[in-house]
Amino acid sequence: MSKSPPRDLGRFGADTRLVLAGRDPGAQHGFVNTPIYRGSTVLYPTYDDIKHRRGRYNYGTSGTPTMDALSEAWTEIAGAAGTVLTPSGLSALTIALMAVVSAGDHLLVTDSAYRPTRIFCDGVLKRYDVEVEYYDPLAGAGIAALMRENTKAVLVEAPGSQTFEMQDVPAIADAMHARGGAVIMDNTWATPLLFPPHERGVDIAVEAGTKYLSGGSDLLIGLVSATERWYPAIKRTYEHFAPCAGPEDIFLGLRGLRTMGLRLREHGQRGLAMAEWLQGRPEVARVLHPALPDDPGHAIWKRDFLGASGLFGVILNPVSEDGLAAMLDGLELFGMGFSWGGFESLVIPFDPTLYRTATRWKPEGPALRFHIGLEDMEDLKADLEAAFSRMAAVA
Ligand SMILES: *Cc1c(COP(=O)(O)O)cnc(C)c1O
Repeated sequence: MSKSPPRDLGRFGADTRLVLAGRDPGAQHGFVNTPIYRGSTVLYPTYDDIKHRRGRYNYGTSGTPTMDALSEAWTEIAGAAGTVLTPSGLSALTIALMAVVSAGDHLLVTDSAYRPTRIFCDGVLKRYDVEVEYYDPLAGAGIAALMRENTKAVLVEAPGSQTFEMQDVPAIADAMHARGGAVIMDNTWATPLLFPPHERGVDIAVEAGTKYLSGGSDLLIGLVSATERWYPAIKRTYEHFAPCAGPEDIFLGLRGLRTMGLRLREHGQRGLAMAEWLQGRPEVARVLHPALPDDPGHAIWKRDFLGASGLFGVILNPVSEDGLAAMLDGLELFGMGFSWGGFESLVIPFDPTLYRTATRWKPEGPALRFHIGLEDMEDLKADLEAAFSRMAAVA
């Protein structure tokens, strides 16, 4: 028989906790990892046992040892009271919102929110008579002026999707808590390793584990962690919808968890080095990265965050669409596609002027979002140098 790991993980550093959390070799014949439990039916030995639903597990939707391993590990890493797992980051956001708002409530949503979050708010929450109002991500403590009698929650995301504005989350949380409502955060960019959400005033934190928990572009999963006050509502809503993450994806999530700290440090260093390099290029008007000292959100990032991940934005100087196409089409190493957080470098064009409503966002030229993967930096720079040359040849 193998030993079980130490129980109280709170005394260890973050990397040690990533290695230990959510597994117990002593309970699984010495094998290091929690196995994949698949299943719907859970059998009871006697009439009395089924009558009283005795036992830890009673049906596949309400939990398996594999689900518990990841949700318990995430609860530990996020510093939460509990976590539910869902089959995607977007479904995690919808569970968080549905758990908190009801018909007649007012919901404040940052104008920089992940676009599918907006589509859900406008397409579903409005239909159920929730008043959705978008606000300036830079509102900070001034958000109190937008709060009403019926303001039930505020959704924050920092840095913002695509535009990378930082938000003063503790100040927004103070304003919301003064009215008894909930702060919901999409914390996908930082993960709890770089922004411990519940220590900073967030009640309900959502993570698209599809990104850095996976690290491999090979799974879809969402995680919703919450404080003591809000976890029961999250758990109840989860039980109503039963959005169960797949057992293989959970297993891959657990595998990703072990190396997440290491990968994030690497993505963060590479991302910042590439952001600095791009800042020096004549084709670039502006780089959107909160760890750059001249970024407008730098002071907040430095105060509240423990590091940066590998995702940032670049605004190019004005260039023809043909020039942009020539730049992107010949890339050898950077792939073009949605999602991010994997080992491979990515770039996509984006245009937030299409959907923002509370604030105007006026880029000087075309906007690109980069994710810096684990390739050699010199190879990545050479790929971009060639791309800029193709752009110049057309423009
Ligand atoms: C990708 C992403 C999501 C959604 O995650 P999926 O697993 O793709 O549904 C949510 N929020 C942010 C900020 C994201 O980047």
